[in-house]
Amino acid sequence: MKIYNSLRRQLEDFVPLNPEQVSIYSCGPTVYDYIHMGNARTALVTDIIRRYLVYKGYNVKLVQNLTDIDDKIINRAAELGVSAKQLAHQNGEAFFEDSQRLGIQPADVHPKATEHIPEMIDLIQILLDKGAAYVIDGSVYYRVNQFAEYGKLSNRKPEDLLAGARVEIDERKEDPRDFDMWKAVKPGEPSWESPWGRGRPGWHIECSAMAMKHLGETIDIHAGGEDLQFPHHENEIAQSELATGTPFARYWMHVAFLKIDGKRMGKSEHNFILLRDALDNYPTEVIRHFLISAHYRHPLDYNRESLTKSEGALRRLNNCLDALKNYYEDIEPSETTASQFTLAMDTDFNTAQALGAIFTLVGEVNKSLSTLDEAAAPVLAQAYQALTETCQVLGIYNTDTQIDDGDNVQQRDQMINLLLEIRQDARNRKDWETSDKIRDRLKELNIEIKDTREGTTWKIIS
Ligand code: AMP
Ligand code: ZN
Repeated sequence: MKIYNSLRRQLEDFVPLNPEQVSIYSCGPTVYDYIHMGNARTALVTDIIRRYLVYKGYNVKLVQNLTDIDDKIINRAAELGVSAKQLAHQNGEAFFEDSQRLGIQPADVHPKATEHIPEMIDLIQILLDKGAAYVIDGSVYYRVNQFAEYGKLSNRKPEDLLAGARVEIDERKEDPRDFDMWKAVKPGEPSWESPWGRGRPGWHIECSAMAMKHLGETIDIHAGGEDLQFPHHENEIAQSELATGTPFARYWMHVAFLKIDGKRMGKSEHNFILLRDALDNYPTEVIRHFLISAHYRHPLDYNRESLTKSEGALRRLNNCLDALKNYYEDIEPSETTASQFTLAMDTDFNTAQALGAIFTLVGEVNKSLSTLDEAAAPVLAQAYQALTETCQVLGIYNTDTQIDDGDNVQQRDQMINLLLEIRQDARNRKDWETSDKIRDRLKELNIEIKDTREGTTWKIIS
């Protein structure tokens, strides 16, 4: 099995440190609002990585943090007139609810920053004792020039790092690249006691401390969105590796952005679609299919057409599985598909190719069902096993959800019927132009209509 390791920018064989248990840390959300589809992409990729490793027989421990104290939380809470604690709590609960609706299995531990202040203080103290940090007016800064490998993850040259750091000018820092691990309290902000006075932790120290507390000094996989590579993950490495003297994470994985209209979907860009709104409009499996339809290192564009395509794909899959149920037998899955699926997933979790293997089989099954002879039955039973097994790893097949049962489908059907009524009125007026236009435009949308003596009927062609 190979994973693309952002640290060395190459595909590498995956060998866990401890063969008994794979450890994964995934940077979770800053809980100042509901999560959007971009956050969902990164969370879902982690879910798929974990499901697939379990499928391969590994025992996995997944830790996903919640950043529940940060400037954004403090500012939003002040705007809304609630406490930062209350706002973070509400949004943390909403995050769990939304994740569950997307079929994301909960992590083994969901540590919260505010519940790990002593661990963060201990880590900062170790760095101070090593001369890798300094205190100014109750704030503690990391001394970047003490870590010779600084920049190794983001592959940035010292001058680029300086240019990036200058955006946040703080005259008091020894070096513009230095970053704060502890922020001295400001009036009205939440704060905790520390050896340097009251204050709150910086974002990077949170993840270093929580990852090491729950997974040990060296973890196997550290994942997050591509925006976190610099400075967040670079700084996590600097803090953790200088403190322990051992590698912090063996494989760094970065998920490419979900985009909308060619731009990164993000809160600050004001162009986001909330996951919960998308889940009100599409079934879980459709959204999962869409979010994994591209390999995680490729950008993916959010648009209605792609979701409609995923809807069509899921309908095809469910119809096929419904027909195949009759051939169920307790036998091994069809080898070719299972091995093509595994090959794709073994190559850096290539879900796009894995879906390709699944839908190739769907096509073959449909062909074979239409020309069925008795001899095909065992092959179909094997196909059924292969499809259910692989689709369950990806979480796109759930026997409890029927894609065609949703309110959306009902609404769609009502709208088609309405269009047919309007078309009938046009025909009564002998307005053939309008009547033909409705027929042709529906055909373009894969809806075929037929005029019979009993009236007009329609069906979806896929
Ligand atoms: P945040 O709440 O901004 O800290 O983000 C939580 C997680 O979502 C992080 O791992 C981010 O890297 C990730 N993320 C944010 N925006 C996007 C996006 N447009 N596409 C993919 N991942 C994203
Ligand atoms: Zn993090």
